[in-house]
Amino acid sequence: MDMQSSFLDRLFDSGLLIDTGVDGLYGRSGQFEDVIAAFERLIDTFGGADGAEAIRFPPGMNRAFFETSGYMKSFPQLAGTVHSFCGNELDHMSLLKCMEVGDDWTRDQQATDIVLTPAACYPLYPTVAKRGAIPENGALYDLQSYCFRHEPSKDPARQQLFRMREYVCMGSEKHVTDFRQSWMDRGVEMMKAVGLDVTIDVANDPFFGRAGKMLANNQRDQNLKFELLIPITSVAKPTACMSFNYHQDAFGAKWGLNFADGSVVHTACVGFGLERIALALFHTHGLDVKEWPESVRKALWG
Ligand code: ATP
Ligand code: ZN
Ligand code: MG
Repeated sequence: MDMQSSFLDRLFDSGLLIDTGVDGLYGRSGQFEDVIAAFERLIDTFGGADGAEAIRFPPGMNRAFFETSGYMKSFPQLAGTVHSFCGNELDHMSLLKCMEVGDDWTRDQQATDIVLTPAACYPLYPTVAKRGAIPENGALYDLQSYCFRHEPSKDPARQQLFRMREYVCMGSEKHVTDFRQSWMDRGVEMMKAVGLDVTIDVANDPFFGRAGKMLANNQRDQNLKFELLIPITSVAKPTACMSFNYHQDAFGAKWGLNFADGSVVHTACVGFGLERIALALFHTHGLDVKEWPESVRKALWG
C-alpha cells in the first residue's frame, strides 16, 4: 500500500468499511460498530439524566409527512424515495423483458407511501403534534436513525446512508436555545475526552438553487446553525461531526406544535454524525483500536 492511498482505501483495506461498489454505501465491520456503540454510551452518560423520551423510527418515513415538511422545496437534490413494482402479470412479463435487454426497467416503478428519512428528527414532529399540547416546561426526545442523502462521494465522511443520533427539544425560545448551548458545551467536552481536536463554527444547510442562497445567508446571519468540526479528510476543511440547529417557531408552526394556551412552541435539535465521529477517531488515533491512547479507550470502554 503506497503513501498516497486515500483514507477510504485504507478503511477498505483494514476491513473497517466494506466496499459495495457504490460511493457512500458501505458495510461496517464489528470493530467499527463497536466504536459507534461505545460512543453512543458516552452520549448517554452526558444526556441520560435529562429525561429525554427515547424513540426509534425505522430509516423510512411516511411520504405524506415528508411532503408537508417542505424537504423538496429546500433539498430536492438529496431526497430518496422508495418505489415499487405495482403491476399485474402482464406488466411483470414486460418488466423482465425490459431487464433482459438492458432497458430502463425502473421507469414503471410506482412511488410507495415511504420515503427514506433525511434526518432523524423528521418523523418526530408530526408524531408529537398528534399527541396534543406541549407541556409548559417543554419536551425532550432522544432519536437515532439511519438517514439517506443522495450525495455520493469518495470522502468516507460523506455517505449516502449513515446514522444520526439526535436530541430534539421543544418549548419556549429560552428553553430550546439554552438546550442547544448546553449541548455545544457538552459536545466540546465529549470530543476532548476521546482525544479529538474540535472547533465550533456557524454554518448553513445546502439549500437548493438561487433562492436557496438567500435562505442559507439568512440562516447564517441569524446564527441558526452551528457545527462542531473535526479534521478527517482535510485539516484545512474539517468535517462537521455534530450540528446544533435552532428552528425558531418554524417547525412548531408547520406541524401545529403548541402549548396548552395555543401559542406556538420553538424547537431545536442537536445531531451527532455517528459514522463521522467513528471516522474521526480512526483517523486521529489509528485504524487499530488496541493502539489507541489509554485515556481514549477508558473514556469509551471504561
Ligand atoms: P455537511 O455540511 O457536511 O453536509 P450537514 O450540515 O448536511 O453536513 P446536518 O444536516 O446538520 O449535516 O446533519 C447532522 C449531522 O449528520 C452532521 O453534523 C454530520 O455529522 C452528519 N452527516 C450529515 N451528512 C452526512 C453524510 N452524508 N455522511 C455522514 N454523516 C453525515
Ligand atoms: Zn434534527
Ligand atoms: Mg449535508
